Amino acid sequence: MTPPRTSPYVVVGAGIHGLSTAYHLAKELRTRGVGSGADIVVLDKSSPGAGASGIACGVVRNNYFQPAMSELMQACVEVWESDPAAYHYNPVGYIALGASVQQDDLIATYERQEQIGYRSELIVGAADVDEHMKALFPDWRAQGVTVCLHEHQGGFAFNMASVLGLAEKCQSEGVTIYSGVEVREFEFASDDSVRTVVTEEGSIEVGEQLVVAPGPWAKQFWKLLGFPPTIDVRTPDGDVVKDRPMWTYWNLQEGEIHVDPLSFATADGGAPAVIHLDTDAPLYTDDGKLVTDELWGIYFKRDRDGVQGGASPLVVEEDVELDPYPQTTNVDPGFPDMWCAALSHALSRFEDCRALYRNARSGGVGAFTADNFPVFDYLKPNVYAILDSNHGYKMIGVGREVAKVVVGEHSTLLYPFRFERFATGDLHPVSHSPYPWS
Ligand SMILES: Cc1cc2nc3c(=O)[nH]c(=O)nc-3n(C[C@H](O)[C@H](O)[C@H](O)COP(=O)(O)OP(=O)(O)OC[C@H]3O[C@@H](n4cnc5c(N)ncnc54)[C@H](O)[C@@H]3O)c2cc1C
Repeated sequence: MTPPRTSPYVVVGAGIHGLSTAYHLAKELRTRGVGSGADIVVLDKSSPGAGASGIACGVVRNNYFQPAMSELMQACVEVWESDPAAYHYNPVGYIALGASVQQDDLIATYERQEQIGYRSELIVGAADVDEHMKALFPDWRAQGVTVCLHEHQGGFAFNMASVLGLAEKCQSEGVTIYSGVEVREFEFASDDSVRTVVTEEGSIEVGEQLVVAPGPWAKQFWKLLGFPPTIDVRTPDGDVVKDRPMWTYWNLQEGEIHVDPLSFATADGGAPAVIHLDTDAPLYTDDGKLVTDELWGIYFKRDRDGVQGGASPLVVEEDVELDPYPQTTNVDPGFPDMWCAALSHALSRFEDCRALYRNARSGGVGAFTADNFPVFDYLKPNVYAILDSNHGYKMIGVGREVAKVVVGEHSTLLYPFRFERFATGDLHPVSHSPYPWS
């Protein structure tokens, strides 16, 4: 299908953000009586879900130390909860378990969740955490855990199914999604707004606004929009770090074990919450080899074919070739041993699960900003950018906020993610988590 020569609203990227934006914008235009989904086109060089959204582990959680992230995530969970069937959302909850170094961060997160009305429970102290976990999973045996934040909202969604659910919602509002249309460049007007989106299938004149939601391809779009590869960053204490790379890539380590999914259930046979375990207890493989004696972490959830999850990502030093996405060689050779040892450390039902590890379509590269937090902002007078720094499958509600901004409203939830923060020093606080996204 060839895209039209002109469209009032052009959205680039048919991942979770581009599609959520298109869907919510269509609703905004219709309910305000100023247009409809027919005024919006979505362009994707592959097809819906071909990027990070279609490979994401799918974890939906609120556990963020940064107040702005936590508040935004609450709004996102609201969207997931609004139509669990269409979004293939499993509201099983989320459990974060941490070592003593993370205790204060998780307590602060819990206190904020209480203030904003996000349903969660805090358990502090090794014995009490152990008791809480054993009540859920009698074979729980993780060591070195002194704090547990049990979120009773959130959970996970099935990645590709949820993207297709969103695509259907877009189409039901009259939005057209053009697959196989690669954006090559932008042509600018004298006021620096984008006048034309140049694609392999011809040029499209932007009548009103352009939204770019390119996921891991953020660096390419950064360049297409004319921005430099490095930026100066003012820290909260006023120092300026010169020439920091705007984009770095991390390789997300994820995999799965093939077991009967129902073998991973709670004591009463219920669906288990997503579990995120960080601990400083030494980690050994089941045959006794030391994997690490430093802080380590894993996350895992029940999936369609077994148990799926991951561990800390690895930074990629060089520029990566993103296409085709995702590369099949993404997972570090040491990852399966580590992740399976960690599953066994957590629950005795996973003892000797290394033999059940499968090379599945898991793991992939994410693009992270200079401070590892998203940039949601106008980068040109008519170009809104959703550059989520790989936080964002769970952030299905960002598109709802962007839609409001595009029709002229202010979003207090998105404001803390403006690009200007790098110049002003209004950066987000940093936690003790070993992950770049917590
Ligand atoms: C392995 C992995 C696991 C993850 N797990 C989680 C998780 O559990 N929970 C969570 O919240 N987040 C997770 N994330 C992060 C999350 O997946 C991303 O932050 C989010 O999906 C990004 O969504 P997006 O819509 O911006 O981008 P994408 O889903 O990547 O969509 C971008 C789209 O843009 C298209 N595109 C690119 N270039 C062009 C071009 N030139 N012209 C036209 N189209 C173009 C691509 O084809 C793609 O479809 C994970 C990421 C990875 C890699």
